Amino acid sequence: MAAVQQRLFGTNGVRFVPGVSHDLDFVIGLSEAVGTYFGGGPMILGHDGRNSSPALSNAAVSGLMSSGADVAEAGLVPTPALQLAAKSMGFKGGVMVTASHNPPQYNGLKVVGPDGVEVPRLDEQRIEKVFFERAQTRADWKSVGAARPEPSVVRNYINGVISHVNAKLVSGRRFTVVMDPGNGAQCVAAPYLADALGCKLITINSVVDGDFPGRGPEPTPDTLSELAGAVRASGADLGVAYDGDGDRSIFCDEEGRVLWGDQTGCLIADYVLEKRPGDTVVTSVSSSQAIEVVAKRRGARVFRTRVGSVDISRTMLERRAVFGFEENGGCMYLPHIPVRDGGMTTALMLECLAARGVAFSKAISFSVPKYYQAKAKVDIDRNRLEAIMKAVGREARGQVERVDGVKAWTDEHSWVLVRPSGTEPLVRVFAESDGQERAETLVKKFVKVVRSASR
Ligand code: MG
Repeated sequence: MAAVQQRLFGTNGVRFVPGVSHDLDFVIGLSEAVGTYFGGGPMILGHDGRNSSPALSNAAVSGLMSSGADVAEAGLVPTPALQLAAKSMGFKGGVMVTASHNPPQYNGLKVVGPDGVEVPRLDEQRIEKVFFERAQTRADWKSVGAARPEPSVVRNYINGVISHVNAKLVSGRRFTVVMDPGNGAQCVAAPYLADALGCKLITINSVVDGDFPGRGPEPTPDTLSELAGAVRASGADLGVAYDGDGDRSIFCDEEGRVLWGDQTGCLIADYVLEKRPGDTVVTSVSSSQAIEVVAKRRGARVFRTRVGSVDISRTMLERRAVFGFEENGGCMYLPHIPVRDGGMTTALMLECLAARGVAFSKAISFSVPKYYQAKAKVDIDRNRLEAIMKAVGREARGQVERVDGVKAWTDEHSWVLVRPSGTEPLVRVFAESDGQERAETLVKKFVKVVRSASR
């Protein structure tokens, strides 16, 4: 096999366990490489609420200053707030210290450009090259960068989100919202946003805590039972939960049913496209075909990318697409900033529900067609991957797409997607159909194909 270039960046920035897989020296060196890539500052730097984040953030400030960049320190902010600051407050780029939804021991760095979006994949490799070749710029005593605090990033974020919705319409509804930031970074922004939009607010897990003692940093249907229960008990209009760094949001309706990101993404897409018919929505190959039905109704187009939010964001910019989403609850709105944003998604959802004037569950059942999904993952030996994907390709019937892995449409409403994980030695098998049994049968069939080709 040909030598593979050593990688630091994964699907979403650089991730590691501080003090175990990498140390603070690594963060200083990587930040010097980032500063070198940007050719100096000013840079904006923020961090999430993890226990290791302040130490890593200080190391990143040192590295950026060492490369000659001036640094504005935002402190503890949600990732989308840092990204908006990079775009709207005159910075050359930004660095966010975060491991998003990963368990508490993890941390990482995310690098964003002057448009607020994560730097393109090829530029990640440029930064890696500088790092591995030790080609960092090291400023001398005359040109070393300076640091200053930048306390207005959260305020800028909340004002920015509100400027893109009809605040009067939302406030007029006086929604009761149960909010669960999961002890993560949205604790410092989302409750104030909801308050500014006239919501009556009930919060749970709303104190920042790097151990994530409430429900962990990843919102899933299993971890949101407390949120669902609180919505039912309080008679609230909706519930919303965020991941550790506040870029993903998962909602539950007034009956306490947790809605996966496919459904809520389609509901918001339907609302946005109603106002901008004929526009474009971007999503990855793995999300529901419901979006094609919604888009068709609004005369809009759907563009599918590889799995990964950066691919969606960058494609939105290229195609000037108004909206993008992932099935994990990451929604992106171009007029604001085309990155996953829990706050913007919440505000759009509130405006959508205010405009529809019906209960959340009704809004979903009126606007979003119902499909059924099944999922599985199969551990594999990476050396067998090529053989496995060949076997999957041979078994794929009907219309076959190869945007990311192999996706085969077995009938008009049924597809199966077999995709190798980018980070772990496993293959994911997803299926969707208009019947639950058909989706499960498809997954079982392809799990068998993957298993027999693994041997
Ligand atoms: Mg996240």
